[in-house]
Amino acid sequence: MNFLYILNFFCYCMLMIQYYFLNLAMIYNVCWTNFQSICKQWKLKININKTKIMIFSKGRIPRNLLFNIDGNEIEIVSSYKYLGIVFSRSGSFLSTRKYLRDQAIKAMYAVIKKSRLNNLSIECQLDMFDKAIVPILTYGCEIWGFENLDILERVHLRFCKHILRLKKSTPNFMVYGELGRCPISVTVKSRMINFWCRLQEGKESKISCLLYKLLYVNFNNYGYDSKWILYIKKIFDDCGMSNIWQSHNLFEKRWVVLSVQQRLRDQFIQEWSTEMNTSPKGLCYRLYKNVFKFEHYLSVLPFNLLITLCKFRCGNNRLPIETGRWRNIPRSERLCHLCGSADIGDENHYIMSCNYFKDERCKYLPHYCIKNINVIKFKQVCSTQNIVELEKLCRFIKSISVKVYPPG
Ligand SMILES: [Zn+2]
Repeated sequence: MNFLYILNFFCYCMLMIQYYFLNLAMIYNVCWTNFQSICKQWKLKININKTKIMIFSKGRIPRNLLFNIDGNEIEIVSSYKYLGIVFSRSGSFLSTRKYLRDQAIKAMYAVIKKSRLNNLSIECQLDMFDKAIVPILTYGCEIWGFENLDILERVHLRFCKHILRLKKSTPNFMVYGELGRCPISVTVKSRMINFWCRLQEGKESKISCLLYKLLYVNFNNYGYDSKWILYIKKIFDDCGMSNIWQSHNLFEKRWVVLSVQQRLRDQFIQEWSTEMNTSPKGLCYRLYKNVFKFEHYLSVLPFNLLITLCKFRCGNNRLPIETGRWRNIPRSERLCHLCGSADIGDENHYIMSCNYFKDERCKYLPHYCIKNINVIKFKQVCSTQNIVELEKLCRFIKSISVKVYPPG
């Protein structure tokens, strides 16, 4: 009953606003008459305690407004939570996103706790995030997805950094790159397009289809700026599929949704690549990271070793190149203090050329890496798929960490 009531309310509000220029009393009367007829038809009783009035407007509400049902005054509220979505009178869904974020964070820590108890792999933890947390974060996103999604993406990144034991300050492109993951916005946009396709194919009598048609006619003929419609159009334009929007002709729904999803993913990978190649923090990272994919070492190494390697790759270490950054020392002065070679103390130096670690290098690295060193060999060492070589590399990194910055 509530569902019908709310949808009817929305529908009639929109019509009345358009034709009667926000005559609230008239809107209420029309809604009320309509609502009564529905209740009679379905033999339903109105629950006064759960019935509220919300006036969608950005201006002030007149103080003398009173709404009654059978002599009982109905409260006027500025926001109302219905089936997990918080509607607010300004039309913004910020409260919804904050509410979903809070719910998702609670569920996220429950997943992390269970994962630790059961020693789950990184892949498995990511799968649990996709199955249990993403549905909470994106609940109802078909409707509110056009708004800023940063608040939700921060939950995603927090989870990824948490399972890899990375610092909050780790550049996001490294986290996406190591795990081969795309932001939540790709999921949200795909779902919005999927919903739009369903509106095209749905029965004409469906309230959602009727409302869409009303919005579309107003958008096309009367210049009504519907943020939702503009956003759907923008997604198609950005994906180079403006023809689908212009013709409103679905060649095949499944193909449209999958194509949009793939193009959004490709665009993100392009942005990721640009950021990695232009960020000063990615100077070493881009030497051993070329392909956007889940890194092989995360699924084959024991947990303590994979964390060691991941932290080293993502700059979560205390090499002079990092500690110098914290102290605002110019890059050219962040030198290795162990070998006295006046080389910059970065990952490449310690793994490949620092004389202080000559013996460890012979012990842990493949023989072809010891002589005639160059950047290609450094790349080979850091991106090897061989599990024995990976384990040895991790042990080498551990010994470097202890000697470059001894504990205590
Ligand atoms: Zn050195």
